[in-house]
Amino acid sequence: MAVGPGSIPYLEASAHPDVGAELLGAIESLYPICRSITGDGVRETLNILKRSVPIELREIPTGTPAFDWTVPREWNIRDAYIKDASGNRVVDFRSLNLHVVNYSIPVKCRLSLQELRPHLHTLPERPDWVPYRTAYYRDDWGFCLTHRQLMAMPEGEYEVCIDSSLQDGHLSYGEILIKGETDDVVLLSAHICHPSLCNDNLSGITLATKIAQTLLPLNLRYSYRFIFAPATIGSIVWLSQNEAIVKHIKHGLVLACLGDAGKSTYKQSRRGNAEIDRAAAVVLRDSKQDHRVDAFLPYGYDERQYCSPGFDLPVGSLMRTPNGRFPEYHTSGDNIAFMDVGSLTDSFVKVLSLIHVLEYNRTYINLNPKCEPQLGRRGVYRALSDRKADGERELALLWVLNQSDGRHSLLDIAERSGISFGALRDAAEVLMDTGLLAEQSRGLDQNAG
Ligand code: ZN
Repeated sequence: MAVGPGSIPYLEASAHPDVGAELLGAIESLYPICRSITGDGVRETLNILKRSVPIELREIPTGTPAFDWTVPREWNIRDAYIKDASGNRVVDFRSLNLHVVNYSIPVKCRLSLQELRPHLHTLPERPDWVPYRTAYYRDDWGFCLTHRQLMAMPEGEYEVCIDSSLQDGHLSYGEILIKGETDDVVLLSAHICHPSLCNDNLSGITLATKIAQTLLPLNLRYSYRFIFAPATIGSIVWLSQNEAIVKHIKHGLVLACLGDAGKSTYKQSRRGNAEIDRAAAVVLRDSKQDHRVDAFLPYGYDERQYCSPGFDLPVGSLMRTPNGRFPEYHTSGDNIAFMDVGSLTDSFVKVLSLIHVLEYNRTYINLNPKCEPQLGRRGVYRALSDRKADGERELALLWVLNQSDGRHSLLDIAERSGISFGALRDAAEVLMDTGLLAEQSRGLDQNAG
């Protein structure tokens, strides 16, 4: 029953002392790249990730239908600026890629400030931040700048250039499949279309990559499929290209906004009571940290597609502060300085702990069910004390013995007892070793449903 080599720790930040700093370093290296829903920025990002994990790049041609959608033309950009009368770049794509409305059509012209103004986007209430704007699926162009920059632009004529292209090409996404004991799949999905923004979603991209790297050497019960795709159109394309294998997805998690200093938020799947929903609630409870669990809402990230009624997959979403609920959201304020190393570490630990629950959630049978067995005589307490025993761990033994009638999984027991899933799993291992407990066979497990 051991998952070795190396089991998956439960809520042990000390097992990963450097992970937050490592994730921050990865975020920094990907930050300057101008990503979008298609184009070379996405490819470059996936190729960088490929240095640490065996990610496979998929290229889906422009015009490919995907349910009610179509793969759009590919967008690429080399340069963009607004120059004043003296030829100075007053807005410069090369200093920050958020300065151009993402997916802008190519433009080269001279305009008065008055003519230019409808194409300029600022945040008057946050005069030092540049907003993030897109023009997907409509032929438009524009620039984003700080309100202070706009206020400093005198009347007069400006030279405007967006050196972009919109041509038939491809939509790129990346996939990793880690094969486990069974074909049952845990899906982990991160959107990859945002340019220089950290929490949304370089935090999710780098964290998913690190989780894949961590799982790769392990013998796992589940197979793990990681998807790195542009938001909305990417998951729609993935689902349309992979409809035949969707039935294998037993649990799923969308990873986004995992690096801000806010508390953890789990957003439930459309089902609301799927195993992933219950496991996430137990992990967050066991963390003993402040957190929130939100009910499903058909708004947010790619869970909208995975949880559309035609699929209704058990896919939840783990975040810190959700999209739209932090002022830095979709602005230049969502930068490296906004990242919190402790939160990155903690988010990694929680995702890994969620995987711990999914991997080790089994149903057992007490082989000595008539009254309590004599635990001392069997060396159970001694075995437990080798595993950092405390009061909770002794109580965990009694709960596992009492509830293991073939009808209650460890997750059921964790919910009912309030005892940490990690302690219950340790107790189950000790009881298995001493012959007091046996794992329910899969066939019986299904009958017990
Ligand atoms: Zn976003």
